[in-house]
Amino acid sequence: MRLGGCGWRVVALVGISLLSSASVEAGGRQPTPPRRVVITVDDLPWVEFALSTPAEVAARHRKLIDALSRQRSQAIGFVNEDKLYQHDALVPARRQMLEDWLRAGLSLGNHTYGHRGLHSTAIADYEQAILRGESELRPLMAAYGAAPVWFRHPFLQAGQEAAARQRLADFLARRGYRIAPVTIDNGDWIFARAYVQALNAGDQVLATSLRDRFIAYIEAKFKYYEQQSKRLFGREIPQILLLHASALNADSMDELLRRLRRRGYEFVSMEDVIDDPAYAHADGYRGRAGISWMHRWAMAEQQPKVFYQGEPAVPADVLALAGVSGE
Ligand SMILES: [Zn+2]
Repeated sequence: MRLGGCGWRVVALVGISLLSSASVEAGGRQPTPPRRVVITVDDLPWVEFALSTPAEVAARHRKLIDALSRQRSQAIGFVNEDKLYQHDALVPARRQMLEDWLRAGLSLGNHTYGHRGLHSTAIADYEQAILRGESELRPLMAAYGAAPVWFRHPFLQAGQEAAARQRLADFLARRGYRIAPVTIDNGDWIFARAYVQALNAGDQVLATSLRDRFIAYIEAKFKYYEQQSKRLFGREIPQILLLHASALNADSMDELLRRLRRRGYEFVSMEDVIDDPAYAHADGYRGRAGISWMHRWAMAEQQPKVFYQGEPAVPADVLALAGVSGE
């Protein structure tokens, strides 16, 4: 009897919810699929070795890894193997930082030895920087039953000439690599430089204010690239966010990922998004800079100048604090 009574109530509730969703659809609103984003973190094991003590780096690295794994971020970190060395000797603690990523269930990719820019490096030297960039990475990943698959161009310099682009594409394919694009490009590294300087000066008030402004800035970037995606593809494609391994992101990551979840995002892997047809779009950019793939695709479609307007910029006072002249 009790069960039957409950059953009736369930049927009645289902009826009401069907009615209400029908009326929502009659009103023209479609259910929103979850938004998806890949979290990528560049310049591993750490950007700011020169600006912090080893103890500070270790604590911040732990905090970053903890936030990424607690939030089930599926993040991938891109490694510059030159950063493993000091005075030509491998620093075991730095190698351990990479292993920490793998132990936390996160992934790693190749970002070259020496953070070489494709536009100022002979292609043969660039290929050597990729090979040298996996001498520790490949055995480290093998111990976890994995291999490096994703390659991220330093400075997002993807090649200005067709011949260099094709040679690099062939080289990467032969080595089992795929290119990891970026759609939500941003100036986190500028905020990060201002932030670590504020920490070093003991100015916690300034550091906290920079952190809060940084999180709002990244949210504004999401809003902008969500709109750009709808304008270019008529839908929101899965996005790829670029951040760096810095004190700023160690102290921001937990809150940032929380905000992105509230925005409707789930965190997915490169493998989950790269087969979306958007990522097969032609890249129409041959300039010197490193720009979002969203805008590279827009250039292949000859979008007018007005298409690119409205992108959130790093505020002038943050540029000045970081001692950087421009983005
Ligand atoms: Zn980089």
